[in-house]
Amino acid sequence: AIAGIVYMGYGVYQDRHPEPQVEPDPSKKTLVILGTGWGSVSLLKQLDTENYNVIVISPRNYFLFTPLLPSCTTGTIEHRSIMEPVRTILRQKKASVKFYEAEASSIDPERKVVRIFDNSEIRGDITETEVPYDMLVVGVGAENATFGIPGVREHSCFLKEIGDAQKIRKRIMDCVETAAFKDQSPEEINRLLHMVVVGGGPTGVEFAGELQDFFEEDIKKLVPDISDRFRVTLIEALPNVLPMFSKQLIEYTESTFKEEKINIHTKTMVKKVTDKAVEAEMTHPDGKKETVVFPYGLLVWATGNAVRPVVKDLMGRIPAQKDSRRGLAVNEYLVVQGTRDIWAVGDCAVAGYAPTAQVASQEGSFLARLFNNMAKTEALEEKISHLSSTLNLQPGNSAAVSREIEGYERQLRRVKNAKPFNYSHQGSLAYIGSDKAVADVTWFNGNVAAAGSLTYIFWRSAYISMCFSTRNRLLVINDWLKSKVFGRDLSR
Ligand code: NAD
Repeated sequence: AIAGIVYMGYGVYQDRHPEPQVEPDPSKKTLVILGTGWGSVSLLKQLDTENYNVIVISPRNYFLFTPLLPSCTTGTIEHRSIMEPVRTILRQKKASVKFYEAEASSIDPERKVVRIFDNSEIRGDITETEVPYDMLVVGVGAENATFGIPGVREHSCFLKEIGDAQKIRKRIMDCVETAAFKDQSPEEINRLLHMVVVGGGPTGVEFAGELQDFFEEDIKKLVPDISDRFRVTLIEALPNVLPMFSKQLIEYTESTFKEEKINIHTKTMVKKVTDKAVEAEMTHPDGKKETVVFPYGLLVWATGNAVRPVVKDLMGRIPAQKDSRRGLAVNEYLVVQGTRDIWAVGDCAVAGYAPTAQVASQEGSFLARLFNNMAKTEALEEKISHLSSTLNLQPGNSAAVSREIEGYERQLRRVKNAKPFNYSHQGSLAYIGSDKAVADVTWFNGNVAAAGSLTYIFWRSAYISMCFSTRNRLLVINDWLKSKVFGRDLSR
């Protein structure tokens, strides 16, 4: 390292600030940020950390680039390529930031403290403590919705965290190897090789597409004796998949799935899950209902979001939140309704937008600008009050001082004139398998719908450009090339 420039590997050099974590400065406010997802990390990226004592608390000490998570389930992309350590992000900030790897269990808005616990594997015990705050940002995301359907938690795989993708990858190969084992009955082979996906939102659709690719491009060649039995089924309660996309893209996706031999069952609501089968109620075009049983080897549950217990608990402590159901209701500055010093971003906040990475990241950037401005406002107000108090002490200088005060006041008006949060939708993208993608993009204030292989190239370049760091970008490109040239890695 020469003068703070550190070699990062892959020909990338980065400027680092290797200051140690220092004790909090009592003259500054303590800003506690919960979570290391899209909202919290985009806030951190743009926050002038020298203005506050910043503390980040999250059970995950990395940022995860979630749009490429479905690709990790089949090994198209290796999981570490889409993870960025929080410590690396924090070391690039001007002033030091404290990070605690811990989970927030409750927030007390009266006493202004967050209760946190660390489930230490190394010590094998749980340490609990409290962290006081002056300002708090809740960016803890959401958990998987199961709607209380029996058996879901016990038997299905979710697709939210890196561990979920790793579990699915192992499970796919377990199903394949068990089906290929000596003397399996045809029914058992059929069950093991039936991959069922519940939920036709973007998560379910992208995963089903990736899975069918894995089968067509790799499994079929390497395990040919069972290849005619592999099936992917997507179950959706509504009349169509991808409800947030335009009608033509929905039709394109459904017809592409048909070509890819992915079975889609719409108007089919899963009611019960056991260790080997899914029980669903199917509504026929004439309105008749039928109970259908789908035996499965792998079940992936992707039916959207539910409120996390820590958020539910906080909502219960704030009377103004009593009518909110899907998360913390926030005002146009993302302040949690009924509080003055708590903000919420991302999937745990209800601001009138869909719970997407795009919304969360714009909310995080908005808060960073807001907090940077708040610090500037305080600094300017202090300067003005200091100069005003010296005005009478230096009569000869009063004209110059008055001009200086006016200058600061002009700056103050500009800074104070902060506009409320305004989401700017850039579009929606989804991969649907066999090197095709669908895109609803905003272009010069109009909507453009595109689908197919060119859209897939657009999808790839958009996600590459959105990757967190140059390191992530290079790793993802490398993984794509590797799986194209050598095929995906089938080892468990
Ligand atoms: P989602 O909420 O978008 O879709 C879940 C689907 O599951 C719904 O269509 C619902 O009708 C269905 N469902 C619920 N219960 C069911 C049941 N019992 N049986 C059958 N079907 C059932 O969930 P998601 O796909 O996880 O997405 C969550 C959020 O993240 C959304 O806002 C989405 O837009 C966003 N997201 C976007 C992208 C992208 O843009 N590429 C990718 C992933 C997620």
